Amino acid sequence: MNPQLQPLIDLQTLDLRIMEIKEQQKKIPDLIETAEAPLKSATQHLKTMTSSGETLVKERRDRERDLEIHEAQVEKLRARLTELKTNKEYQAHLFEIEIANKKKGEIEEQILTLMERVEKSQQEAKQAQISAKEAERLFAQEKSRLEALSAGLAAELAQLDQKRSKAGALLDKPLLDRYTKLKAARKDLAVAPVRNGICFGCRLQLPPQLVAEVKRSDQLQTCTYCHRILYWDGERVTVPTTTPETLVDAADDMQETA
Ligand SMILES: [Zn+2]
Repeated sequence: MNPQLQPLIDLQTLDLRIMEIKEQQKKIPDLIETAEAPLKSATQHLKTMTSSGETLVKERRDRERDLEIHEAQVEKLRARLTELKTNKEYQAHLFEIEIANKKKGEIEEQILTLMERVEKSQQEAKQAQISAKEAERLFAQEKSRLEALSAGLAAELAQLDQKRSKAGALLDKPLLDRYTKLKAARKDLAVAPVRNGICFGCRLQLPPQLVAEVKRSDQLQTCTYCHRILYWDGERVTVPTTTPETLVDAADDMQETA
Protein backbone atom coordinates (compact mmCIF):
# COMPACT_ATOMS: atom_id res chain seq x y z
CA MET A 1 0.00 0.00 0.00
CA ASN A 2 1.22 3.47 -0.82
CA PRO A 3 2.51 4.88 2.50
CA GLN A 4 0.78 8.20 1.90
CA LEU A 5 -2.66 6.70 1.51
CA GLN A 6 -3.51 5.72 5.08
CA PRO A 7 -2.41 9.07 6.60
CA LEU A 8 -4.48 10.76 3.90
CA ILE A 9 -7.57 8.73 4.82
CA ASP A 10 -6.95 9.45 8.52
CA LEU A 11 -6.63 13.14 7.79
CA GLN A 12 -9.95 13.09 6.00
CA THR A 13 -11.63 11.21 8.86
CA LEU A 14 -10.41 13.94 11.22
CA ASP A 15 -11.52 16.69 8.86
CA LEU A 16 -15.00 15.21 8.49
CA ARG A 17 -15.42 15.12 12.26
CA ILE A 18 -14.05 18.67 12.53
CA MET A 19 -16.62 19.81 9.96
CA GLU A 20 -19.39 18.02 11.84
CA ILE A 21 -18.37 19.68 15.11
CA LYS A 22 -18.25 23.12 13.51
CA GLU A 23 -21.76 22.58 12.13
CA GLN A 24 -23.00 21.61 15.60
CA GLN A 25 -21.27 24.62 17.15
CA LYS A 26 -22.95 26.95 14.67
CA LYS A 27 -26.37 25.71 15.77
CA ILE A 28 -25.82 26.32 19.49
CA PRO A 29 -26.64 30.06 19.60
CA ASP A 30 -29.93 29.36 17.79
CA LEU A 31 -30.72 26.54 20.19
CA ILE A 32 -30.08 28.87 23.15
CA GLU A 33 -32.32 31.50 21.61
CA THR A 34 -35.09 28.95 21.04
CA ALA A 35 -34.76 27.75 24.63
CA GLU A 36 -35.08 31.33 25.87
CA ALA A 37 -38.33 32.04 23.98
CA PRO A 38 -40.69 30.60 26.66
CA LEU A 39 -38.88 32.61 29.35
CA LYS A 40 -39.21 35.80 27.32
CA SER A 41 -42.92 35.25 26.81
CA ALA A 42 -43.48 34.35 30.50
CA THR A 43 -41.58 37.48 31.57
CA GLN A 44 -43.65 39.60 29.20
CA HIS A 45 -46.86 38.07 30.56
CA LEU A 46 -45.77 38.80 34.14
CA LYS A 47 -44.98 42.39 33.18
CA THR A 48 -48.43 42.82 31.60
CA MET A 49 -50.15 41.27 34.63
CA THR A 50 -48.22 43.44 37.09
CA SER A 51 -48.91 46.62 35.18
CA SER A 52 -52.64 45.93 34.78
CA GLY A 53 -52.75 45.15 38.53
CA GLU A 54 -51.12 48.51 39.28
CA THR A 55 -53.62 50.28 37.04
CA LEU A 56 -56.52 48.66 38.93
CA VAL A 57 -55.07 49.64 42.32
CA LYS A 58 -54.67 53.22 41.14
CA GLU A 59 -58.25 53.23 39.85
CA ARG A 60 -59.49 51.93 43.22
CA ARG A 61 -57.56 54.65 45.08
CA ASP A 62 -59.02 57.33 42.79
CA ARG A 63 -62.52 56.03 43.47
CA GLU A 64 -61.85 55.99 47.21
CA ARG A 65 -60.76 59.62 47.00
CA ASP A 66 -63.96 60.41 45.06
CA LEU A 67 -65.92 58.73 47.83
CA GLU A 68 -64.27 60.85 50.52
CA ILE A 69 -65.05 64.04 48.58
CA HIS A 70 -68.63 62.89 48.12
CA GLU A 71 -69.08 61.99 51.79
CA ALA A 72 -67.84 65.44 52.76
CA GLN A 73 -70.37 67.02 50.37
CA VAL A 74 -73.24 64.99 51.86
CA GLU A 75 -72.15 66.08 55.35
CA LYS A 76 -72.11 69.71 54.24
CA LEU A 77 -75.60 69.34 52.75
CA ARG A 78 -76.93 67.79 55.95
CA ALA A 79 -75.41 70.56 58.06
CA ARG A 80 -77.23 73.18 55.99
CA LEU A 81 -80.67 71.55 56.61
CA THR A 82 -81.09 73.45 59.91
CA GLU A 83 -80.42 76.80 58.22
CA LEU A 84 -83.32 76.45 55.77
CA LYS A 85 -86.42 78.61 56.29
CA THR A 86 -89.21 77.32 54.04
CA ASN A 87 -90.61 73.85 53.58
CA LYS A 88 -90.06 74.12 49.84
CA GLU A 89 -86.39 74.86 50.32
CA TYR A 90 -86.19 72.01 52.81
CA GLN A 91 -87.79 69.51 50.40
CA ALA A 92 -85.51 70.58 47.56
CA HIS A 93 -82.50 70.20 49.81
CA LEU A 94 -83.59 66.71 50.94
CA PHE A 95 -83.88 65.75 47.29
CA GLU A 96 -80.33 66.99 46.68
CA ILE A 97 -79.10 64.89 49.61
CA GLU A 98 -80.91 61.85 48.23
CA ILE A 99 -79.22 62.30 44.84
CA ALA A 100 -75.83 62.75 46.52
CA ASN A 101 -76.39 59.56 48.58
CA LYS A 102 -77.35 57.65 45.46
CA LYS A 103 -74.16 58.80 43.77
CA LYS A 104 -72.21 57.78 46.88
CA GLY A 105 -73.75 54.31 46.71
CA GLU A 106 -72.68 54.01 43.08
CA ILE A 107 -69.08 54.90 43.94
CA GLU A 108 -69.08 52.35 46.79
CA GLU A 109 -70.32 49.73 44.34
CA GLN A 110 -67.52 50.62 41.92
CA ILE A 111 -64.96 50.34 44.70
CA LEU A 112 -66.24 46.87 45.64
CA THR A 113 -66.01 45.73 42.01
CA LEU A 114 -62.50 47.19 41.76
CA MET A 115 -61.45 45.42 44.97
CA GLU A 116 -62.58 42.11 43.49
CA ARG A 117 -60.73 42.81 40.26
CA VAL A 118 -57.58 43.81 42.16
CA GLU A 119 -57.73 40.56 44.12
CA LYS A 120 -58.22 38.50 40.96
CA SER A 121 -55.42 40.35 39.20
CA GLN A 122 -53.09 39.79 42.17
CA GLN A 123 -53.78 36.06 41.97
CA GLU A 124 -53.08 36.09 38.24
CA ALA A 125 -49.86 38.04 38.77
CA LYS A 126 -48.79 35.54 41.42
CA GLN A 127 -49.46 32.68 38.98
CA ALA A 128 -47.56 34.53 36.26
CA GLN A 129 -44.66 34.95 38.66
CA ILE A 130 -44.59 31.21 39.39
CA SER A 131 -44.68 30.45 35.65
CA ALA A 132 -41.89 32.94 34.95
CA LYS A 133 -39.74 31.43 37.69
CA GLU A 134 -40.30 27.94 36.30
CA ALA A 135 -39.49 29.16 32.76
CA GLU A 136 -36.32 30.75 34.13
CA ARG A 137 -35.32 27.49 35.82
CA LEU A 138 -35.91 25.46 32.66
CA PHE A 139 -34.00 27.94 30.53
CA ALA A 140 -31.03 28.00 32.92
CA GLN A 141 -31.00 24.20 32.85
CA GLU A 142 -31.13 24.00 29.05
CA LYS A 143 -28.61 26.81 28.66
CA SER A 144 -26.07 25.12 30.89
CA ARG A 145 -26.65 21.84 29.05
CA LEU A 146 -25.94 23.57 25.73
CA GLU A 147 -22.93 25.39 27.17
CA ALA A 148 -21.54 22.09 28.43
CA LEU A 149 -22.13 20.61 24.98
CA SER A 150 -20.37 23.59 23.41
CA ALA A 151 -17.42 23.26 25.80
CA GLY A 152 -17.23 19.53 25.02
CA LEU A 153 -17.21 20.24 21.30
CA ALA A 154 -14.54 22.91 21.69
CA ALA A 155 -12.36 20.50 23.68
CA GLU A 156 -12.82 17.78 21.07
CA LEU A 157 -12.06 20.26 18.32
CA ALA A 158 -8.81 21.28 20.02
CA GLN A 159 -7.80 17.63 20.25
CA LEU A 160 -8.73 17.01 16.63
CA ASP A 161 -6.73 20.04 15.51
CA GLN A 162 -3.66 18.58 17.23
CA LYS A 163 -4.21 15.17 15.67
CA ARG A 164 -4.78 16.84 12.35
CA SER A 165 -1.43 18.60 12.35
CA LYS A 166 0.26 15.30 13.23
CA ALA A 167 -1.58 13.49 10.45
CA GLY A 168 -0.82 16.31 8.02
CA ALA A 169 2.88 16.13 8.89
CA LEU A 170 2.97 12.56 7.57
CA LEU A 171 2.01 13.72 4.08
CA ASP A 172 4.19 15.15 1.35
CA LYS A 173 3.54 18.85 0.89
CA PRO A 174 2.25 18.59 -2.74
CA LEU A 175 -0.16 15.83 -1.73
CA LEU A 176 -1.38 17.82 1.26
CA ASP A 177 -1.95 20.82 -1.03
CA ARG A 178 -3.82 18.66 -3.51
CA TYR A 179 -5.96 17.25 -0.73
CA THR A 180 -6.69 20.74 0.63
CA LYS A 181 -7.74 21.99 -2.82
CA LEU A 182 -9.93 18.94 -3.45
CA LYS A 183 -11.54 19.30 -0.03
CA ALA A 184 -12.36 22.97 -0.71
CA ALA A 185 -13.76 22.17 -4.15
CA ARG A 186 -15.71 19.05 -3.21
CA LYS A 187 -17.06 20.20 0.18
CA ASP A 188 -17.32 16.59 1.38
CA LEU A 189 -14.89 13.86 0.38
CA ALA A 190 -11.48 14.58 -1.15
CA VAL A 191 -10.45 10.96 -0.76
CA ALA A 192 -13.15 8.55 -1.88
CA PRO A 193 -13.50 4.82 -1.31
CA VAL A 194 -14.05 2.49 -4.24
CA ARG A 195 -16.76 -0.09 -3.60
CA ASN A 196 -18.11 -2.51 -6.21
CA GLY A 197 -16.18 -0.64 -8.87
CA ILE A 198 -17.90 2.64 -8.01
CA CYS A 199 -16.22 5.89 -6.85
CA PHE A 200 -18.11 6.87 -3.69
CA GLY A 201 -17.32 10.51 -4.29
CA CYS A 202 -19.28 10.85 -7.54
CA ARG A 203 -21.07 7.45 -7.55
CA LEU A 204 -19.89 6.64 -11.06
CA GLN A 205 -18.68 3.27 -12.32
CA LEU A 206 -14.90 3.29 -12.82
CA PRO A 207 -13.01 1.52 -15.63
CA PRO A 208 -11.99 -2.02 -14.49
CA GLN A 209 -8.30 -1.22 -15.13
CA LEU A 210 -8.46 1.75 -12.71
CA VAL A 211 -10.31 -0.34 -10.12
CA ALA A 212 -7.56 -2.95 -10.31
CA GLU A 213 -4.91 -0.29 -9.81
CA VAL A 214 -6.77 1.19 -6.85
CA LYS A 215 -7.02 -2.29 -5.37
CA ARG A 216 -3.27 -2.81 -5.79
CA SER A 217 -2.77 0.71 -4.34
CA ASP A 218 0.92 1.02 -5.11
CA GLN A 219 0.31 4.45 -6.60
CA LEU A 220 -2.28 7.05 -5.65
CA GLN A 221 -5.10 6.89 -8.17
CA THR A 222 -7.58 9.60 -9.13
CA CYS A 223 -11.22 9.25 -10.18
CA THR A 224 -11.60 9.77 -13.92
CA TYR A 225 -14.76 11.82 -13.38
CA CYS A 226 -14.49 13.80 -10.14
CA HIS A 227 -10.69 13.72 -9.67
CA ARG A 228 -10.96 12.62 -6.07
CA ILE A 229 -8.10 10.52 -4.75
CA LEU A 230 -9.26 6.91 -4.59
CA TYR A 231 -8.68 4.12 -2.11
CA TRP A 232 -9.75 0.52 -2.10
CA ASP A 233 -12.41 -0.03 0.55
CA GLY A 234 -12.10 -3.83 0.62
CA GLU A 235 -9.89 -6.53 2.01
CA ARG A 236 -6.67 -4.78 0.90
CA VAL A 237 -7.09 -1.95 3.46
CA THR A 238 -5.07 -3.21 6.39
CA VAL A 239 -7.00 -1.85 9.38
CA PRO A 240 -10.52 -1.00 8.20
CA THR A 241 -12.26 -1.46 11.58
CA THR A 242 -9.86 0.64 13.65
CA THR A 243 -11.13 3.98 14.90
CA PRO A 244 -9.61 7.17 13.51
CA GLU A 245 -7.98 7.89 16.87
CA THR A 246 -5.96 4.66 16.94
CA LEU A 247 -5.18 5.09 13.26
CA VAL A 248 -3.59 8.43 13.99
CA ASP A 249 -1.77 7.00 16.99
CA ALA A 250 -0.52 4.21 14.77
CA ALA A 251 0.54 6.82 12.27
CA ASP A 252 2.38 8.65 15.08
CA ASP A 253 4.18 5.48 15.99
CA MET A 254 5.11 4.97 12.35
CA GLN A 255 6.52 8.47 12.23
CA GLU A 256 8.50 8.02 15.44
CA THR A 257 10.06 4.75 14.36
CA ALA A 258 10.82 6.09 10.86
ZN1 LIG B 1 -15.46 10.09 -8.62
